[in-house]
Amino acid sequence: MSEIDVKRAREETPACKDVVHFNNAGASLMPIPVAEALHEYLKKEEKFGGYETAELESESLENFYHAASRLLNCEKDEIAFTENATRAWEMIFYSFRFQPGDKILTTISEYGSNVIAYNQQAEKYGAELIFVPNDEYGQIDLRVLENLIDERVKLISINHVPTGNGLVNPAKEIGKIAKSAGIPYLLDATQSIGQIPIDVKEIGCDALCGTGRKYLRGPRATGLLYVRKEMIEKLIPPFLDIHSAKLTSPYTYVIRPDAKRFETWEQFMAGKVALGVAIDYALSWGIGAIQQRIYKLASELREKLAEIDGVVITDKGKEKCGIVTFIAHQMSASQIKKQLAHYKINVSVSGGSGNFVLFQHRGLKEVVRASVHYYNTSEEIDYFMAALKKILINN
Ligand SMILES: *Cc1c(COP(=O)(O)O)cnc(C)c1O
Repeated sequence: MSEIDVKRAREETPACKDVVHFNNAGASLMPIPVAEALHEYLKKEEKFGGYETAELESESLENFYHAASRLLNCEKDEIAFTENATRAWEMIFYSFRFQPGDKILTTISEYGSNVIAYNQQAEKYGAELIFVPNDEYGQIDLRVLENLIDERVKLISINHVPTGNGLVNPAKEIGKIAKSAGIPYLLDATQSIGQIPIDVKEIGCDALCGTGRKYLRGPRATGLLYVRKEMIEKLIPPFLDIHSAKLTSPYTYVIRPDAKRFETWEQFMAGKVALGVAIDYALSWGIGAIQQRIYKLASELREKLAEIDGVVITDKGKEKCGIVTFIAHQMSASQIKKQLAHYKINVSVSGGSGNFVLFQHRGLKEVVRASVHYYNTSEEIDYFMAALKKILINN
């Protein structure tokens, strides 16, 4: 595996000159080719008109599907473009119908929006939502998951990487359990896509969602969905339109057979082109090389953080990714974020809503989330540490 040429990566990310961006789990910095694709597409819309540009750019729009299918090791017609990860996920989740007493299995590290959706549908159908506990490493407990499987379990739906913790859930092992039990498996890969190599066949998931702006370095308001071919026609989308379906008479319609049945007619075309470019760009570095560098930087950051008095790292997991979370006894996470901004360091605060169940379980209110990408450097980590020491010691 070739190493990342960090110098080139930073040259192609002009904002690196101005900020230390440790908010890649929020939204990464766009590299030049992605920003240019976005700007140029919008300029064409301005100049030629939106519909006319879509015709002119049909190939670069189509490239999104090629790129996404290469990224995930699937077919083009198993991919849908969405406005974000939440909508992609919801289009699948809300396609499921449950019977009273059916069970949905998830993890306590599940994303807040997903937990709201589970509850809404569980209430509607009289189904039961079960949070599989974590094991001693803080990841989903596979043995408990296996023991919970029975004929009433109709869906296993988990995240690969949660929003507010560095842990990585064992997606492949869960896939094996789901497959041998014949239970549909929905994977929220929003934080792992672009950071960790994802092969949907190896993982064995039936559907997977991701977002453009996080580790893929695409624009905001872009997302993607993968649905396994055999599942597509079994899932009736909760919403349909003249793109996802077709009227065959005033009273009849047919739903298209590919994953585009989960799309809408109107789309953020500039974003779709730019997301295709972002995926190609990520693939040109190699996701394996990206992961290796991210993991190395993140563990360096954790090691250095652990040396500061009063700082507690809150990450769990046998495997830890580029999301580094911590609290400090001296100061709240929100205050730390604010103070770091004076040093032009971007981090975010994970509060109660994104990982409500996990935070309640752990007794956490809010944590600082410093999430690194391959274009970050050890020098930036040292600068971050120096700033943090000043902030915590002067207060
Ligand atoms: C950010 C995030 C989401 C939501 O993604 P959007 O693109 O904002 O809809 C879902 N799940 C996880 C784990 C996330 O981190």
